[in-house]
Amino acid sequence: MKSDYIHNPPSLKIDLMLRGIRVEEALGEDLTSYASAGPGIDIVLPRSTLVNVPYGGEFTEDSPYVLKRSKKGYVVTDGKEEVPVKLVTQPGFYKRKTTTGKPFSSISTVHGSYVVITPSPRCDFFNRNVECRYCAGNFDVESGKGDITYSVDEVLETAEAILTERASDIIYLSIGFSETDDGGIEFLTPYIKAVKKHFNCLVAVEALPPKKNLWIDETYAVGADSVLYNLEIFDRELFEIICPGRAELVGRQRYIEALGYAAEKVFPNGTVASHLIVGLEPPGSTIRGIDFLTAMGVVPILPIYRPRPEKALRIEPLTTEIIIPVYRHLYRAVKQSNINMNWVRDISTVTTPIESRFLAGETGIIKTLFESFYKSRLGLKAAWGLSTIRRKLRVREEPTDHSGR
Ligand code: SF4
Repeated sequence: MKSDYIHNPPSLKIDLMLRGIRVEEALGEDLTSYASAGPGIDIVLPRSTLVNVPYGGEFTEDSPYVLKRSKKGYVVTDGKEEVPVKLVTQPGFYKRKTTTGKPFSSISTVHGSYVVITPSPRCDFFNRNVECRYCAGNFDVESGKGDITYSVDEVLETAEAILTERASDIIYLSIGFSETDDGGIEFLTPYIKAVKKHFNCLVAVEALPPKKNLWIDETYAVGADSVLYNLEIFDRELFEIICPGRAELVGRQRYIEALGYAAEKVFPNGTVASHLIVGLEPPGSTIRGIDFLTAMGVVPILPIYRPRPEKALRIEPLTTEIIIPVYRHLYRAVKQSNINMNWVRDISTVTTPIESRFLAGETGIIKTLFESFYKSRLGLKAAWGLSTIRRKLRVREEPTDHSGR
């Protein structure tokens, strides 16, 4: 079946995230050396568009797309036409261990140029059986009730490996739900401080909103450059059904207050973000969420829900044709609200606002946006990494020869 999007990288990215890809049988072994987030493979499409494409899952069996080797490298084909692509190799550290013997891959998760460190891969929602129905991330879903905690030194070693290999310029520290008033910030503080002390890098914190705003001030004060409080679902009723823990123990209203406070009073423009998962609520509801968040100065990030057999929560029908207007709206809403789009970029698992500009057909203004970004304090700090995006992605152009020849 021919695809309508094969020659349009931003649309193809969305279609691949939604439908997944089948992999030519001979390619199976090649994939072991590529970075992946869950059952996905990071692929660079034309125009340097990075995407994490699901493969191997049941829902990918009907995908029109196949990843194949070609004479010059790799291609994605829809059976009739094809486009050249590159595969992103796993960073070397991902196979190594800390000096204490912990695999770096258990402390961190790589998604293209976005690497998340989880100092404590547990979430107290599991203790109360109110975990999010789609739970993903670097949390051990099977043993969410466990109490593994990596030491500050282990996290520093991980951060050093990430930064040395240029796997990411930003260290993301993630934490699940914690009972405490501070939302886990007190626990994360020694990690944030240590990373800021030892490395010249930006730190982003992904957490649930703390109960009191003073902990948001504290998050910034101890060194976080960016914060993500992921509402995930804007529709009130669906939020309660799909995210029972977030609804009962944090509350939708608290998410909204905390995001507004962080964006309006504490963090620099464009550094407060929140996920809205596309596919878990009607597109119109996601669009309302985009408008609501951007009006507060919050950057909406829109991952696409990736169904698993036991967690088939996706609304139907859900097609790329339906989703593209949502991303167009994202770009226009962020732009209209004068929110800096450059903090959130190059993430393989989502289409970021800055990528959505191509869907909105408004590439002309980007130069101005970048220019003003570079003039800002944050821009100056972040700009040094842009010129090395290709290198840090460890782009591989030639297929690996496993024939032993
Ligand atoms: S907050 Fe939800 S998605 Fe995050 S780890 Fe806990 S259960 Fe999973």
